Amino acid sequence: MTPRSVTAVHLAQEALRVITDELRTADRTRETGGILLGHHVHDTVTVQHAGTPGPEAVQTSTYFLRDRAHAQTLADHAYAQDHSVWIGEWHTHPTSRPVPSSRDAATYHQLLNDPELAFHSFIAVIVGPRGPHWNITAWTCQNNTITQVALHGLQHQSRHW
Ligand SMILES: [Zn+2]
Repeated sequence: MTPRSVTAVHLAQEALRVITDELRTADRTRETGGILLGHHVHDTVTVQHAGTPGPEAVQTSTYFLRDRAHAQTLADHAYAQDHSVWIGEWHTHPTSRPVPSSRDAATYHQLLNDPELAFHSFIAVIVGPRGPHWNITAWTCQNNTITQVALHGLQHQSRHW
């Protein structure tokens, strides 16, 4: 069965905790992020696990590239735990709005067009500053278009940022 187009992303508490822990301690002069692992059912992606950058990640003020070996270890662990698969990536924009940059879009399209990865769609969670807090947005990339989608699961922790 072909999964339907994604219209909503749900962040499980465990995934949200990893992201908020990373945001609390992150150096705000450079991007940070990690992979997202979970399940795509009907039109919703549930993110069960979020990764940390890893020791070999490339982190500049305008660019983030995951640590591939670190990501693979996380992916193996998540699959063993609940059959989560790689469904996307999260990263910060410390100095700009939380919308995909042209470089982000190029990266996502490259991943989507890789037949070995066999992505149906790719989920991007992008985090940007909102005053002293963070604004978290979710995007789906499919058929060479990127669309913002609803993001659920933030209610419990949002007041603590
Ligand atoms: Zn970006």
